[in-house]
Amino acid sequence: MTLIYQSTRDENNRVTASQAILQGLAADGGLFTPLSLPKLNLDFDQLQQASYQEVAKLVLAAFLDDFTEAELDYCIESAYDDKFDTPAIAPLVKVEGHYNLELFHGSTIAFKDMALSILPYLLTTSAKKQGVDHKIVILTATSGDTGKAAMAGFADVPGTEIIVFYPKGGVSKIQELQMTTQEGANTHVIAIEGNFDDAQTNVKEMFNNSDLKLKLQEHQMQFSSANSMNIGRLVPQIVYYIYAYAQLIKTEQIKSGDEINVTVPTGNFGNILAAYYARQIGLPIGKLICASNENKVLADFFASRTYDKKRPFRVTTSPSMDILVSSNLERLLFHLLDNDAAATKRLMDELAVKGEYHLPEAVNQDILNLFAAGSATEEETAAEIKRVYEHSAYIEDPHTAVASAVYRAYAERTGDQRPTVIASTASPYKFPRVAVEAATGKDAGNDFAAVRELHALSGVAVPKAVAGLETATVRHRAVVASKAMQEAVEDCLGLS
Ligand SMILES: *Cc1c(COP(=O)(O)O)cnc(C)c1O
Repeated sequence: MTLIYQSTRDENNRVTASQAILQGLAADGGLFTPLSLPKLNLDFDQLQQASYQEVAKLVLAAFLDDFTEAELDYCIESAYDDKFDTPAIAPLVKVEGHYNLELFHGSTIAFKDMALSILPYLLTTSAKKQGVDHKIVILTATSGDTGKAAMAGFADVPGTEIIVFYPKGGVSKIQELQMTTQEGANTHVIAIEGNFDDAQTNVKEMFNNSDLKLKLQEHQMQFSSANSMNIGRLVPQIVYYIYAYAQLIKTEQIKSGDEINVTVPTGNFGNILAAYYARQIGLPIGKLICASNENKVLADFFASRTYDKKRPFRVTTSPSMDILVSSNLERLLFHLLDNDAAATKRLMDELAVKGEYHLPEAVNQDILNLFAAGSATEEETAAEIKRVYEHSAYIEDPHTAVASAVYRAYAERTGDQRPTVIASTASPYKFPRVAVEAATGKDAGNDFAAVRELHALSGVAVPKAVAGLETATVRHRAVVASKAMQEAVEDCLGLS
C-alpha cells in the first residue's frame, strides 16, 4: 500500500511521497503530511550494529514508499559520504548528565546539512519518477545559513542549478565567505543591494511570474524550492533519532525499550516534528522538549494554547531560531485536530488575518501531552555555555545551549530523570565569537581570532568548513540592484 501525503489545508489534495517532494509546498498553501504512519520493525538488537546509512534506508523506505530500493540506495550513498567529517555522520557525545546528538558534521557545520545533503537527490529522483526531464532550478534568498547549506547540497548534482541571493552587508564575514567561495559549476551566488526582505520578495515574485515560467519551460527548466516545508527535508531528520537510540543501547547507556527524552532547539518546528514522527513509529520517547530563545512564540503556545505572532522580533545570538511564524507547527496542528484539513485551514487563516489563533478544547490530548516547552533568555544561554564549558570542557554553540538550558530547567522543575538526547544543531565554530565570549568572558575581536581561541579552549579540530576560508578563492563576485534580480537569473541560466 502506498502512503498518502495530504495537504494540511485540503482533504482532496492527496499525493504520493515523490509527488509531495517534487511539489514542495501544496498549491493550496498547505503542507503535505502523512495521513497515517508506516509500520516499522524497530529491532534494536539489529539496529545497534547498523550504520547511519542502513538506518536511513529503513526509515526512508518506510516513508518514501514509492521509491525503489535502487533509487533510495543512490540517494543515501550520494548524500551521506565523506562530505561528513565522521563515518558516524551524527555522533552522540555524553555531556554532563545528557547526550548531545551532534548534527553538525556535514559541509556547513550545522544541522540543515542532515537533510539538505539528501534533498537534491530525492528531488531529482522524484522528478524522474514523475516523468519530468526538466532541469530543476533552485532559487533562494538567504539571510546567511540556509543558502549555503542548500548550495553545498546541490553543488554538482546532475540535472540541477542553484541560484542564491543574499543581502550585501547583511550577513557575517564568515557567512559571506562561505557562500562566495562555493565550488560547483551549477552554483550561482549573487549579492543584492538591499535587505533580506527585498531578496525574499523578489524571489517569490519570480516563482509566481508566469512569463518567466514559460521561458524556463522553453529551455527545459523549472523552478523548485528547497525550503523546510518539503517532506523531503522532514523525513531524513527522523533517521538520526532512531540512530541515536541505537547508539545508546550499543554503548550500554540504556536497555532496549527504555524511554528517553529528546530536547530540540526550535525555530520552524521541523526538527522536533521529525522526533515526534520517530516516536509515532515506535521509538520509546517520553517527552519531546521544545526549546525557544527569546522569540518564544512556541513556548507560549504550549503554555497557553494560543499562538500569537504579534510581538517584537528579537535578534539573538541563536539566529536560526529567530522565527515568529513556525511553519512546520501546521503539521502538528493538523494531527492535534485529528487530521482535519478544514479545521487546520481555519486556524491558519485566522493566523494570517488576526496574527493569532487559539487551540480548540477538543484536540488530541495524547499528542499534546507528549510535548513540554520552555525558553532561555540571552543571559541564560550565555551562562549555559559557560557552565557546560566549566563542568565538561565542552563548548556548545548558542542554539544547542538554548536547548541545554531549557532541558536543565525542565529536569529541575519536573524531576524527570529519563536519559535525554539534545539535538545539537550547530558547531561552536559556526558562532566562534559568541561561544568564546560566553565561555571565557573575553571577546576575541574577530571571527578568525575566535576560531583559534576556540580551538585552544576545546581541543576540537577546526572543521574544514572554517579552516580553509581565510585563504579560499572567492568565485562569486556579482552584486546587483534588487530590481535587477530577474535579469541576473536569466543571465545565469542563459535565457536571455
Ligand atoms: C534551522 C536551525 C534550527 C531550527 O530548526 P527547526 O527545524 O527550524 O526548528 C536550530 N538550530 C540551528 C543551528 C539551525 O540551523
